[in-house]
Amino acid sequence: MAKPFASSADLGEKRQSLEILADGVYALTAEGDPNVGAIEGEDFLVCFEALATPVAARRWLARLREHTDKPIRYLVLSHYHAVRVLGASAFGAEVIVTHEKTRELIAERGAQDWASEYARMPRLFEEPDSIPGLTWPTATFSDRFTIDLGGGRGDLVLQYCGRGHTEGDLVAWLPEQRVLFAGDLVESQAALYTGDAFHRDWVSTTLDRVAALGARTLVGGRGAVAEGDDAVAAAIGQTRDFLTAMLREVGASGSVKEAFERTHRALAPRYGSWPIFEHCLPFNVSRLWDELHGVERPRIWTAERDRQVWDELQS
Ligand SMILES: [Zn+2]
Repeated sequence: MAKPFASSADLGEKRQSLEILADGVYALTAEGDPNVGAIEGEDFLVCFEALATPVAARRWLARLREHTDKPIRYLVLSHYHAVRVLGASAFGAEVIVTHEKTRELIAERGAQDWASEYARMPRLFEEPDSIPGLTWPTATFSDRFTIDLGGGRGDLVLQYCGRGHTEGDLVAWLPEQRVLFAGDLVESQAALYTGDAFHRDWVSTTLDRVAALGARTLVGGRGAVAEGDDAVAAAIGQTRDFLTAMLREVGASGSVKEAFERTHRALAPRYGSWPIFEHCLPFNVSRLWDELHGVERPRIWTAERDRQVWDELQS
């Protein structure tokens, strides 16, 4: 029997957990659904990631408002993917910050990505009609962007670490509290999505820079919060291992179909039961096959191309 397309049959509600990681530092995790966070400044808030729709974002904000009523000055978006950005209007933020590449990617492929992600995982798009349109950043940067939190709270540093999960990922780093919001550059016990990735940069220099920050607490794009040096190293190590195995298996294959089968065989014993593994793998292999055959930038995913690749590899 054919596997249902991507996560279209995944309709079970996930339990959301709000964790306080340090004084005024919050993370909301959801059993493998996209994570979000917030950081208190002296008299303002920085929110990290926006979820897929304003209605989904408002549910998160209602929980956050049990802890703080400070106004939201900054909304920081780690990259352009729809399930991270399309809830932005709910925040009413003064400033929406992304990496400069993310702005270009939204202009180039934001609309196609919205249609693609909605069809792949409709459950995340709670009341999709509440989305007013694409999300546009109002401040961008190339290397780093520092927010002074005020009141002795230190800085929040938004840092570009190189190409990885996309061409324009940022991480949000609290050097004093040693808390890192890594976006989808690191996953903790959730499968990687690499359909828009630069695998060779990601597995080497980019992850090296993420690791060199020396986080003691790491919030990945999906999955549980990694608490403590060992758990942080394990999350980064798992991400590196997943990418290394993909590069090895796809690199040794003579066709994209063989690449999918080899990669599935190699990864399934360790990662097969983790969230979105089956969903991601065909798109991941398709992109890595391209990357290893001279396609520099990821081809744009459309709802049609998603189906073609799924039918070719996964059914
Ligand atoms: Zn993503």
